[in-house]
Order: sequence, then C-alpha cells, then structure tokens
Amino acid sequence: MINDVPWRRLALVPVAAVLAAGSLSACRSGNTPAAVAASASASAAPPVELVAPSLPRPSAGAPTSEFQAWVGQEVRAAMKVQTEGLLSGDFGKFAGAAEPGNKALRAELQRRFRTLRALHVTRFDQRIDRQPLVRAKKGTWQVVHIAQQCFVEADCAIDEAVFDSIWAETPAGLRLTGFQPHARKSSCLRCVSYASRPYSQPWETTELIAQVGARTLVAVPPKYRSRLADLSRRAEKAAAVADRYRIGDTPVDRYRIYVADDASWRRWFGGYPGSWVAGVAFPTGPNRIDVEVRESDLTAGFSDELLTHELAHVSTLRNDTYYGQDDVWFLVEGMAEYVEHLRSGTGGYRNRSALNRLLRQRTLRSVSVEPPADNASILDAQGRYAVGYYTVTYLSQRYGKAKMLQFFQQAVQYGIGLDGASRTAFGKPWASVDKECAAYIRKL
Ligand SMILES: [Zn+2]
Repeated sequence: MINDVPWRRLALVPVAAVLAAGSLSACRSGNTPAAVAASASASAAPPVELVAPSLPRPSAGAPTSEFQAWVGQEVRAAMKVQTEGLLSGDFGKFAGAAEPGNKALRAELQRRFRTLRALHVTRFDQRIDRQPLVRAKKGTWQVVHIAQQCFVEADCAIDEAVFDSIWAETPAGLRLTGFQPHARKSSCLRCVSYASRPYSQPWETTELIAQVGARTLVAVPPKYRSRLADLSRRAEKAAAVADRYRIGDTPVDRYRIYVADDASWRRWFGGYPGSWVAGVAFPTGPNRIDVEVRESDLTAGFSDELLTHELAHVSTLRNDTYYGQDDVWFLVEGMAEYVEHLRSGTGGYRNRSALNRLLRQRTLRSVSVEPPADNASILDAQGRYAVGYYTVTYLSQRYGKAKMLQFFQQAVQYGIGLDGASRTAFGKPWASVDKECAAYIRKL
C-alpha cells in the first residue's frame, strides 16, 4: 500500500507553483519562503509599532477609518497583555480580553495557553498585519496577527505564526470572540519569515505536549503521551547524526519535531503532503526548518531512519536563500540519505536493489535525475533517491568531505548552478564530474 511506503521527502513548495496549480506537491521542491532576508538573524527585533496617541472610542456614525484606528489600538493593547500572561503563566491575564460567557472561546484559549506553555514558549511578539477588517455582522472586526515565537531558547531563529482573530464592540469595550486560520490564499504583508506563503503552526490547530532534549523539542498530541519519551530519545540520536553535517553559517539552534495524527497531517504547515509522504521538512523561516512526521510511520523499524533523514534536511538546508529547484533535487535528497546512512548500525544501503532496476532500464549518463513524478512507482522513486545517495557518497570519497560540502552549499544553498559550484569546489566543470559520478554508479 502506498501509505506504507517508507518515504520521506522535503516539501518545499514554490509559491508560483502553488498559485498556478492550486495544490501542494510534497516532492516538488522550490524556493525558500519567498523573499526572506538572508541576513535575518536570531536576534532580529520585531518591527517597531508606531505608537499613536490614545484614541477615544469613535461615536456611532463616525467614518470606518476612525473605527479601524481605534480597533487596532485596542487589539494591540490586548495582545500585549495577552503575551505577558502567556509568558508569565497567568491564564487570567492571557484571556483578559475574551468575551465573557463565550465557552468555545475560553476552551480554545485554554488549549492555546496549555500547548504554547507545553512547548516552552519564551517569546511571543504579536503585531497586526494591515488594517482591521470590517465583518458582515455589525460591530465586529477581523484582525490578522503575526506572532514571532521562540520555544525553549530565549532567542531563536525567526519563526512566525499568522492567524486571524475576531473582535466585537461591546458596551465594555472591544472583546475577543474567536480565532480562525489565516486564509491560505491570503498573503501576509508584514511577515518577516514567509511573506506570501501562509501555513499553520501545529499549536494553532492541535493540543500538544512536548519533551525537550539537549538538541530537540518533540511535540505530540496527548494521545501519544506514552510514546513521547522514546521518540525524544530517538530524536536526540538523530540530531547527533545530523549535527555532524551542518551546512550553514550558524548552528541549528534546536530541532523541532512535530508528530502528527491523521487529522493534524492534513492541517499543519502547508496542508496534506501526499499519501506516500511519511515526513516533511518544512521551511518556516530563513534560518528555520521544522519537521513534521506522521505517527503511523514511526514504527520500530523505521522511526530512526525517518527522523534522521528529516533532521539531516534541517541541518543541511537551513540558512538558505535559495534551494529546492528540481535541478538540485538529487543532491538535496542524496545528502539526507547520505547523512542518514551514517547512523551506527546501518547496514547496506536499502535502495540498492531499486538502483539496480533503474540501471537495467536505462544507461545512466547523468546523475542529475529529476524528482519522481507524483504517480511514480515506489521502485522508480527509490532508484532516484539512490542516485542521489551514491552521488554524494562518490563526491565525498573522491574529493573529500570538505569539498563535497562546499559543492552542496554552493549549488543547493546559494543556487549558483551545478557548473559554477563544481568549478568552485572541484576545479572542473560539472559535465566532467557528472560523468565521473554516473560512471561510478554504473559500476556499482
Ligand atoms: Zn527528504
């Protein structure tokens, strides 16, 4: 069954492709979150909000713009108190702006509060995107929130959550009445980390509990509580392997791994990644890639492999300004396979037979294989992964780890093209090196 395929891919979806195709394809890798600033750093401060003089509540019949300014002011003040309550563990403060008697909202606020606290939230800087929107129901407003968040560390690589809130004018003032996901087709004008490609943070939709290790944060829905300690231990082992192949200017501050049940698998990040996907490495910021894995694929025999492969994407692709075009797909996946295979106790490469099949079907002249088609057979796809794996293996053996990593960084992270990267790292054109790699693989 395709659902049982031991599969994991990097899901980097180009904005243009999403808009054009209207659906996500987890195997089509693309640009990093659009227009991110390469220089955005862990310590970048959130944009400063202009502080206007305190506005009185507009009288009935005042222009909409006056109401918008007042609503924005009131929501900003409420968000500030809400964040203070969140970070200090004071639920009363966190929920202070909520509409009294709104049980559904209170339950949602409690879930968010519990989950964010369970994730060890240390930073939750909220600001508003655009002007508050008038809703159809008189006296109600919709506001787009941008929240810069950090978990565990007091400072971290920039990562944003974008969601909408609903507010109502009441005699006592403006009151929060609910939340809703930010529409996927709606851009985010003032986002730092993902510009025009909204996604859902796991905590927005799902109650989570979490365990912190030395290098990882593993979060699961409470029904998987009994698995958490074991998954955290396995994630730590995977992180130790991935850390050996860090490519980027600064270290990964922390690997975040979210374990999805079936419902979450359809909602988190970019939505449903495909029936044959077991894990996703999703770029949530210029220096951050978060990992989502499906619980049902975390079997005793596959979880270490799956986690290591995905964390290898995090350690080798972070800090990118460009990556994921199809021409370097074989390198991206080849590197994750290569790092995964460094785990102690790993035997022969499991996709070897799929490679043999590929080699029987055609003469491999170039290792620049394209990603498998969406409807590709399992063996076809595994054969392509194998080409990537053996290419990285050959480059490391022939030219040394340092030059192989340099080539990878130039081609995949900097996007200077395979030929330019090859000339820089190996001192010869890619056409020559490509032939060497293909010859090596044909003789395996
Ligand atoms: Zn992958």
